[in-house]
Amino acid sequence: SIKIEQLSKSFANQSVLKNINLDVQKGQFVTLLGPSGCGKTTLLRIIAGLERADSGCIATSHTQFMNTSQGIFLPSQRRKLGFVFQDYGLWPHMSVYDNIAFALKISGQYSRAQIGEKVRRALNYVQLDTYSDYRPAQLSGGQKQRVSIARALAAERQCILFDEPLSNLDANLRDELGQQIKMLASSLGLTCLYVTHDRREAQLLSDKIALLKDGQIHRFDSPENLFRHPDDEWIASFLDCGN
Ligand code: ATP
Repeated sequence: SIKIEQLSKSFANQSVLKNINLDVQKGQFVTLLGPSGCGKTTLLRIIAGLERADSGCIATSHTQFMNTSQGIFLPSQRRKLGFVFQDYGLWPHMSVYDNIAFALKISGQYSRAQIGEKVRRALNYVQLDTYSDYRPAQLSGGQKQRVSIARALAAERQCILFDEPLSNLDANLRDELGQQIKMLASSLGLTCLYVTHDRREAQLLSDKIALLKDGQIHRFDSPENLFRHPDDEWIASFLDCGN
């Protein structure tokens, strides 16, 4: 689980996140949905430890990531989160195998054989078993994103952060990979926090949607409730469901 309390962030004099409270349960798939500029990526980067908040706390059930009033800030690499980004984040000069194995190797925790097994299993999850020796440049966008998902899975993170992972892919591929992400997440019991501005994607993937508006969580609800009962005009027009 991830619990966020009273989190705020400004850039210069622009208040970007205003008193965010959010509870993501273990094994839950939660989407941060909202229009461009509402603060989704900033919130994800703060959870990842790539950006500092001005105030607030973030904790999992066993680790405090940050608590500004106690001066606690855990560096990103110690938060043990998986990341899947829009631009894949793969090393161009490394093979698929080495891209996935790299973090496992430098952790110094595993033998060569264990690493081989973890990479093989992760590639199998994303159906890229025969692609170990390929370089990123030899792969399609969808395949690159699957490698990046395999890398997060190989590290056996309980919790994975996704930042618009499908937005560089064409529409058919988006649906297919979205379904794959959803299936993997539920079969492996992963806790997922997923940023998107795509309403349909959020509707298809999420257990819960946190709808952000101007740096605040305007609504936190299941996709079924949100789409069936938008309840205010702003939500209705954002979701484009008439009203
Ligand atoms: P999008 O869907 O377009 O990516 P978003 O909801 O993810 O939008 P953020 O990227 O979190 O939005 O940005 C929220 C606001 O914070 C924007 O107004 C942006 O200009 C501002 N912002 C983000 N990062 C910085 C930064 N490093 N310095 C200054 N302002 C920033």
